[in-house]
Amino acid sequence: MAETSTYETVIGLEVHVQLATQSKAFCADDAAFGAAPNTHISAISLGHPGTLPKLNEKQVEFAIRLGHAIGSEINANNSFDRKNYFYADLPKGYQLTQDRAPICIGGKVAIKGSNFNKEIRIHHVHMEEDAGKSIHDLDPKHSLIDLNRAGVPLLEIVTEPDFRSPEEVDVFMTTMRQLVRYLEISDGNMEEGSLRCDVNISLRKKGAAEYGERCEVKNVNSMRFARQAIEFEVKRQANILNAGGIIKRNTLNFDPATGVTSPLREKEDANDYRYFPAPDLTPLELSSEFIEKIKTNLPPLPAVLYQQFTKDFALSEYNANLLTQEKAVAFFFLRLSEQSKNYTGIANLLINKVIPFANEQKINISEFPLSAKALTDFVQLIEDGKVSSSLAYQRLFPALIESPDASPLALAEKLNMIQDGDDDFVSDLVDAAIANNPDKVKAYQSGKKNLIGFFMGEIVRASKGKADPKAVNALLRDKLS
Ligand code: ADP
Ligand code: MG
Repeated sequence: MAETSTYETVIGLEVHVQLATQSKAFCADDAAFGAAPNTHISAISLGHPGTLPKLNEKQVEFAIRLGHAIGSEINANNSFDRKNYFYADLPKGYQLTQDRAPICIGGKVAIKGSNFNKEIRIHHVHMEEDAGKSIHDLDPKHSLIDLNRAGVPLLEIVTEPDFRSPEEVDVFMTTMRQLVRYLEISDGNMEEGSLRCDVNISLRKKGAAEYGERCEVKNVNSMRFARQAIEFEVKRQANILNAGGIIKRNTLNFDPATGVTSPLREKEDANDYRYFPAPDLTPLELSSEFIEKIKTNLPPLPAVLYQQFTKDFALSEYNANLLTQEKAVAFFFLRLSEQSKNYTGIANLLINKVIPFANEQKINISEFPLSAKALTDFVQLIEDGKVSSSLAYQRLFPALIESPDASPLALAEKLNMIQDGDDDFVSDLVDAAIANNPDKVKAYQSGKKNLIGFFMGEIVRASKGKADPKAVNALLRDKLS
């Protein structure tokens, strides 16, 4: 076991977001994921001699959208560079990226967990294109190459080394996923590689001012792998440092099957990419109107909605968090909140019934079969004490799904679910329960107070769910004492 407790872990991320544009970054090829191999290609994405790239305006718009959302300065004069290297899935021999003048500079992202609440500083965001994909595990003898991904637009978000634990990385990646989905610039799907990151990790003695030397784990495409890679690296680096060794700045690969990192290349023979300005793309000059218009059209952001949900609607942090995960859900809540002020009741209904139903049926919540009015009327029935909440949730709700056009009140009446607030009705039931259980009454009176639950159960059952539990409870305590 490595002794790690004397060190502080320092982590910086380079996050890649695959953009949900229709076409690729520099040509008209379809950018969609999942097509038959090598069907979304052209002379341009293959970099044939004499072809000219042409910039996709959507990519620029999406980059600015993200920049505005994280408070970056938008660099109106940005430009592309060629990053030269040889790889089988990069037939052009170079990648178009932004090295000298990225499109977004600075910014920050707030993250919050059980033992941290901080801001991660963003160094910059730049545009680039993806490479193709080499597949090594399909054919016993050959590596296969799929170039559909070659030229798909990416944003790379480079953070400052501000993370101190895998939990912080986890929350940041979840926050980025949520953000790119709200902004509708990416599906944020980690399994399909739309969101992935390079994780830079170093250790330093607690209290030290200088950062230690770092290693970079390439292309991590799941939150679980990121955590495993960090935990492994922390132990590996601590072992080396504890033995008096020094960390070499390696680029590492993480193998999910073994949970182990291994060197891809060392700094000594690191690639020299020989960046130079892309000769076939003119530098961008963005007008302030273009930049401002994108800002004006930004959707409400999750952090702002969270504030509104906790402050204006007085929802619990837990509920507000759940309801702002997905933009469609948050907007659905907002629609209901315009019809009823019973915000907690609406939140409970969405979380316990509507969202699970939409998930089960694999429909978008916006396609939910009941109208906003029916849902808020349903909540009001419970609020007014007309239908007990257990009866409403367990029986009325499924009945409404069967008859989506029915009024909740009419259906509750038809199904004989209207709660009896009638004192005599409740009183008779309480008397009967007491008369039928003399032993239990004695036991209760001699101190077994939790028998109250037994009586409650008897009475609510006898009422077929129609007795108001609050009224029963009050009367029962009264009569038993
Ligand atoms: P380079 O120019 O060598 O690529 P950068 O300074 O641009 O390095 O940093 C690249 C990434 O490495 C960033 O995400 C940054 O936060 C991270 N990083 C830099 N120094 C450290 C360190 N000492 N420990 C962990 N991560 C680091
Ligand atoms: Mg990089």
